[in-house]
This record gives sequence, structure tokens and C-alpha cells, in this order.
Amino acid sequence: MRLGGLLIEQYQDFGRFLDGYRERSSPRTPRSISNFIYLLLHTMAHHFAHAVVEYSGLEHGSMGEYLFPADLAFLVYRKGMTPDLGNLSAMWRNQALTMFERLLSDRTLKCDSGSLCDQRGGACPACIMAPEVACIAGNNLLSRAALNGGMPPGWDADRTPLTGFLRIDTPD
Ligand SMILES: [Zn+2]
Repeated sequence: MRLGGLLIEQYQDFGRFLDGYRERSSPRTPRSISNFIYLLLHTMAHHFAHAVVEYSGLEHGSMGEYLFPADLAFLVYRKGMTPDLGNLSAMWRNQALTMFERLLSDRTLKCDSGSLCDQRGGACPACIMAPEVACIAGNNLLSRAALNGGMPPGWDADRTPLTGFLRIDTPD
């Protein structure tokens, strides 16, 4: 069965306020297909939105996001979009390749706050977090470790380090 199908089969409701997914949730929550797919897609959406903000010049507060876990997809959009797509079309025309290279660069997957952020699950306002109005999940279920590897988020009952999605070796 495909991953999206497994996710639907093993669907878990995270609850209205994602109480099981806070950095200091107690007891900790076991890893599952649902919460790890969400963690990865949500982190990718934030990582992408940060790059859009940098290259388009748009405010992060004017961005929004949707996640479609069963389709393994995310959407980052600009709220109150003008019909000509404005800054976003200029960004794609002039910077598309640079922007994709940036998404994969080591530099953007690190945090300026250093090891404190890494040890606390890899998400803080200095790196991958977004303004509350731009985030669909209150900055929960978010960790650079999902992309870059490292210590798991604080809610994760399994304390073994994660292999980041962008660090998985694929056969040529
Ligand atoms: Zn950080």
C-alpha cells in the first residue's frame, strides 16, 4: 500500500490544540505514520515559505499554508494575492534556480541559535518558525531535524536521532 493510503488507514486526530505535540508534552507521544508525515510536510512548507519571503520581499505574515498529508503535499500561498501575482512571479522568473539551491544548502538548514535549538527539537523563532498568523498548526509539529537530521522534537517518545529527509542517500 502507498504511504498516503497507510496514513488514511492509521489516521490519528491530533486534537484541537495539538496537546500531545508540545515541546514539553508529558507523557511523550509515540512516533506514527500520521505525525511523522505531518512533521515532514509542515517543516518543508515552512522551509519553503522562508525562501519565498527572502526572494520575493513579501512579509512572512502575508503568507499562508495548507497541508494535504494523504497526498504528501503542501501549499504555500500569499493571502490577498493581486491578480498579476506581483512579487511571486518576479521571484520565479529571476530567482527560481537560486531559490531551489538555497532550499538544499546546509546554511539554511542550520539555526543561528546553535546547539540549544538543535537539542530542543530543532525549531525556534530564529530559524524555521513562522509568525502565528502564517502557521496552520501554531508552530507545532515542526523541526529542522525532519529535513537535516538530529535530535527529535521534545514530544517524541523515541529519543533516537532522526535521519533528515534531505540527508537520505538514494541510489543513483
Ligand atoms: Zn532555531
